[in-house]
Amino acid sequence: MSDRYAVFGNPVAHSRSPAIHAAFARETGQDIDYGRVLAPLDGFAAAVDAFRRDGGRGANVTLPFKREAWQLATACSARAASAEAVNTLRFDADGGIFGDNTDGVGLVRDIEVNLGQPLAGARVLMLGAGGAAAGVVLPLVEAGVRLLHVANRTAARAEALAARHAGAPVSGGSLAAIDGEFDLVVNATSASLGAEAPSIGRARLVPGGLCYDMMYSAEPSAFLVEAARGGARIADGIGMLVEQAAESFFLWRGVRPGTASLLAGLAQPWRGSRLGR
Ligand code: NAP
Repeated sequence: MSDRYAVFGNPVAHSRSPAIHAAFARETGQDIDYGRVLAPLDGFAAAVDAFRRDGGRGANVTLPFKREAWQLATACSARAASAEAVNTLRFDADGGIFGDNTDGVGLVRDIEVNLGQPLAGARVLMLGAGGAAAGVVLPLVEAGVRLLHVANRTAARAEALAARHAGAPVSGGSLAAIDGEFDLVVNATSASLGAEAPSIGRARLVPGGLCYDMMYSAEPSAFLVEAARGGARIADGIGMLVEQAAESFFLWRGVRPGTASLLAGLAQPWRGSRLGR
């Protein structure tokens, strides 16, 4: 029988993880079965437990359960501990549940490898201080960014996130107070879901700079349209999605799938370009 995995979320019907992991399994010759589990909002731990007892080997976790997954794990990676959120669970033979957060390494690989934008020495502005933002701070710092400024609608949340990384070049503040020159701007807010572009205050992007929206979509988000108008190179989060999945697959199977051809098939033609230039 195939080894079973699933993505847990609520809602979860939209998730592209089953198709991505099926493609990885075909490419690497791994025998896995990957499904979706719609967990009740008050029943995540019970749903995971039932899946595990039924022979499940691991899981991905999406909104709104990433923090609960971190609490459920009996051991976790440094990047999951730093994020206080888990998107990957591995059920070990001794009954342990290992938790990891692969979102950050997914973002870093997408930016550096797929988009060819170096992070070492980069000045990075990140908009948003929710779960996704928290998951990428440590990997961005480890990639050697010169500075990372986190700006959020609720400034206190950005300040608290920065304070968790004392000693690293991470600062926090409000959207209104953004100022300075950046090589990369990452939109980690959910504003794009409502077709809104969060303010970037008085931020200036260097020529050749990249604006990245973690949300992925067929058309560029309002944030990316505005960025392209200002001359920026733009990318959505489909590459982050594929790369975080590859890292989860590696954690479960010990085999790293290739991502280039899958991503080429999923990415929109405007990804990585300067619109209309
Ligand atoms: P979350 O925990 O709910 O956080 C939402 C963040 O967006 C908060 O910082 C919130 O600010 C801010 N926000 C919401 N509406 C806003 C608006 N109208 N203007 C300005 N800021 C606004 O959500 P999340 O899990 O971090 O997800 C954020 C985004 O990342 C989503 O679009 C999600 O789809 C995407 N994501 C993509 C991937 C991928 O693999 N590509 C992975 C994870 C997440 P306040 O604190 O002030 O409320």
